[in-house]
Amino acid sequence: MQQKKIPMRKCVGCGEMKSKKELVRVVRTPEGEISLDPTGKKNGRGAYFCGDPACVVKAQKGRRLERAFECAVPPEVYEALAQSIAAAAKPEEGACKS
Ligand SMILES: [Zn+2]
Repeated sequence: MQQKKIPMRKCVGCGEMKSKKELVRVVRTPEGEISLDPTGKKNGRGAYFCGDPACVVKAQKGRRLERAFECAVPPEVYEALAQSIAAAAKPEEGACKS
């Protein structure tokens, strides 16, 4: 019960607490632009997703990002998010189709 060193964040989809490393960050910049933040270093308000694509679906249906950011979230953001999570979920990048 003493894991104080790992910063934990809550997944917007399932509400589970995970370490930041396991999560994908989405950020709303001070300019109002919403984008993925793979580095976790962008300025702005952040929301987090775990590696489960179902969480993106849940969040989109429940408009949870909209709530987290208090502004409209374009569908492209959810799409990019789903893609990024799907890509990360693959164990290897052996299957390349071009
Ligand atoms: Zn989740």
